[in-house]
Amino acid sequence: MMNKRTFLRLSAAVMGSRFVAPMMAWAGADKITNWAGNIEYSTDRLQSSASVEQVRDFVRKQSRLKVLGTRHCFNTIADSKDLFLSVKELNEAVTVDPAAHTVTVDAGVTYGKLSPILHEKGWALHNLASLPHISVAGACTTGTHGSGEKNGNLATAVAGLEFVTASGDMVRLSREKDGDTFQAAVVGLGALGVITKITLDVQPAFQMRQYVYENLPLRQMSDQFDAIEASAYSVSLFTDWQKQRINEVWLKSRMGSGQAWEARPEFFGARLATKNLHPIAELSAENCTEQMGVPGPWYERLPHFRMGFTPSAGKELQSEYFVPRPHAVEAILAVERMRDQVSPHLMISEIRTIAADNLLLSPCYKQDSVAIHFTWKQDWPAVRNVLPTIERELAPFKVRPHWGKLFTMSPKELRSVYGDRLQAFIKVARNLDPGGKFRNDFLDTNVFGA
Ligand SMILES: Cc1cc2nc3c(=O)[nH]c(=O)nc-3n(C[C@H](O)[C@H](O)[C@H](O)COP(=O)(O)OP(=O)(O)OC[C@H]3O[C@@H](n4cnc5c(N)ncnc54)[C@H](O)[C@@H]3O)c2cc1C
Repeated sequence: MMNKRTFLRLSAAVMGSRFVAPMMAWAGADKITNWAGNIEYSTDRLQSSASVEQVRDFVRKQSRLKVLGTRHCFNTIADSKDLFLSVKELNEAVTVDPAAHTVTVDAGVTYGKLSPILHEKGWALHNLASLPHISVAGACTTGTHGSGEKNGNLATAVAGLEFVTASGDMVRLSREKDGDTFQAAVVGLGALGVITKITLDVQPAFQMRQYVYENLPLRQMSDQFDAIEASAYSVSLFTDWQKQRINEVWLKSRMGSGQAWEARPEFFGARLATKNLHPIAELSAENCTEQMGVPGPWYERLPHFRMGFTPSAGKELQSEYFVPRPHAVEAILAVERMRDQVSPHLMISEIRTIAADNLLLSPCYKQDSVAIHFTWKQDWPAVRNVLPTIERELAPFKVRPHWGKLFTMSPKELRSVYGDRLQAFIKVARNLDPGGKFRNDFLDTNVFGA
């Protein structure tokens, strides 16, 4: 269960300062908060390391610490009572191996910084999350994903990992050589050490077009779900669960792949938008990636939000639940029936598909999945009340929460959905970090205590 003792000290001061002072907080002039401002971390002691040697030296000397990425998680997974280490200055190296189709990057780099460099060199990643502002290491370690029924989450692109363990030693793991340990380490929840370098699969750069349709009848969604999801490289359905409709359908289509299509005015009863839209239609689309079929590079179409702008709504909370793809429609309709409980607290929901993978703690382990996401108004007491209802309704589908978003499922429930994989992960973690240097309350409660 979410640790309620350390979680969410929703002081008015933090809530109020969110927009004016996040960087001040980051710089130590104020308490350090996560991106959304709903969490004030339990220490403001922050050390930054700009080289692997500095990281090793620092880790050796500390008894307990957490690495902080770009602070985009909504729960306490990144929190520390002791000390933070930031590797965001470790972000320069981008080394492409054209023969292996991989790129090796410093772990502090964000997708927003990496992607244009990669594109310039003629390469692309298979997918991106809704925003490019997040660090590669922080995203992969929580199983962050985009959409597309044939696309695994972002961590499935990881071909190799280099990290500093609790003893200050370097460990290098590769997908090819390190089998089970590698599969445990990639979605590592920040529990195994300080990731300093990541090797990712790349493919030749490609162009995309993005189209948005409005008002897809719910009935079409349920009758034609498979056809809708198969209709583009990446498909996102946005709904407020009102009026028996999907408010917006975002289709991201690859050009030159045989999958690109000319937009028809109608899509399963939805109408082609006549201007760029924000997922929350009332908000300005200024911070959104280009739509209306304008061709552009992969990294400017796969995310919904543009680098350099505030993604999403800003002042919000997020939760997300994964269920097996075969149960997608049943699960979506179960949430739709809860609309009167959900909608008062909701900004928007997004439904995405993710391909199965073999990463131990991935919510999509060996299971093509659908993810039902909730962007909530920033009212934790209200959201905390509604989450157990959603979790209960989705429980028959072996629901799994996003590791970096808000949930109230108990450790027992997590144990029941992750089964033996949780024990296998703990074994690897104990081996690399016997004294629990990289553990915190979230991990102790939800993983090690589970
Ligand atoms: C506006 C918004 C939109 C989002 N959209 C999506 C989306 O489309 N899809 C999705 O799946 N998620 C999404 N998320 C969630 C986000 O992708 C995850 O929270 C992700 O983990 C954020 O990465 P971070 O670097 O900010 O992590 P942080 O919150 O800083 O840290 C997360 C974890 O990573 C660990 N960590 C970070 N760096 C390292 C390192 N170098 N070595 C070891 N451990 C490390 C931390 O210790 C912690 O355990 C969104 C979040 C926001 C705020």
